[in-house]
Amino acid sequence: MIDGLPGRESVATDMADGLRGRESAYDRQRLIPGWDQDRLAAATVVVAGVGAVGNEIAKNLALAGVGRLILCDPDAVSVTNLSRTVLFTPGDLHGPKAEVAAESLRRLVPTLQVEPRIAPLISGVGLGELADAALVIGAVDTIRARMQLLGRCALVGAALVDSGTQPWGGEVRFRPPDQPDEPCYACTLTEHQRSHSDLPWSCFEPRDTGPEPASIAAAALVGAWTTTAALEFLMGRPPAWRLLSIELTGRTSPVQISRNPSCPYHHPWTDHPSPLASSADTTVAELLTEFAPEDEPETWTDFPLPLFCRVCGLYPQLADRPDRDHVQLCARCGALLRSVTSVRLRDAGSDIRLRELGVAPEEILPVRGAQGERRCVRLSRG
Ligand SMILES: [Zn+2]
Ligand SMILES: [Zn+2]
Repeated sequence: MIDGLPGRESVATDMADGLRGRESAYDRQRLIPGWDQDRLAAATVVVAGVGAVGNEIAKNLALAGVGRLILCDPDAVSVTNLSRTVLFTPGDLHGPKAEVAAESLRRLVPTLQVEPRIAPLISGVGLGELADAALVIGAVDTIRARMQLLGRCALVGAALVDSGTQPWGGEVRFRPPDQPDEPCYACTLTEHQRSHSDLPWSCFEPRDTGPEPASIAAAALVGAWTTTAALEFLMGRPPAWRLLSIELTGRTSPVQISRNPSCPYHHPWTDHPSPLASSADTTVAELLTEFAPEDEPETWTDFPLPLFCRVCGLYPQLADRPDRDHVQLCARCGALLRSVTSVRLRDAGSDIRLRELGVAPEEILPVRGAQGERRCVRLSRG
């Protein structure tokens, strides 16, 4: 008889079962030379992006026995996902990808600890969480998202295995932890490409030929290579390559890349962040009690401030936090109201919780002192 697939807590039970002669789900893979089930069970892995490749990777890591997964994706399941995603069914249409995937994984591996984050990476997973994770995996599909993930991993020295697909293949990149001089994804982009950041990564020229071609074959292949690199890294054998080029024609090979001296993604945060009692669920007013009056704590992304009419001075909807793209006219004088944004936490309403401003759990926030000096603080888990 085959027992259920164990997760972090049940590895001991799993092993005890083995000693008692009962079969366990992991018995076969334990026979692989160098396999270390306990290291996998103890690991937390962040998966950024739960589309086609993210589905494959999350499924593979859960089945292999990784103990805890944090899945981050802001999007909802669409009908075109269904040809490439093992964790989504037609009944899941329009549901949040991260949550639907987490639910499917719990059915697949009941003992897995899985936390869905329905948010863009910058609001979904804090720098503290990236720093503490055993590994971060990228399965996002735009240059901007890949560079943002790389930038955040580089800041805290996190290990990153980053994937990208093309119609007939793709690539996997490995960024080792705490080695800022290693060549990275952005080293292989030109300055123009780095600034031109919202195009699909596989084609740097703008085009309007409709949706990107994609199939389960490329997603499964790239997902399998990404999983292989991740498992090897988690079991103490980091890949020797930094870029693996994968072709569905049958050839997969490491590609030599070199450090670009002008690449900006090589400056880790050397400061040790001071821990705060506040968490992402704390209000701005409570957070500010942890700072001296001259300290300026900031967020990583700007947040909208209440609308204000510069012509007549009316605050039409002081309570509202307007959408930054939303255009409104002043109810009193008819002037165009422009939404203003800020990263200065002292500008935010005092009763607003940090997560409502887009601040991620266990985020590390920059703080500017009176003389312009910089330090950083880390939010608690809450
Ligand atoms: Zn670089
Ligand atoms: Zn007005």
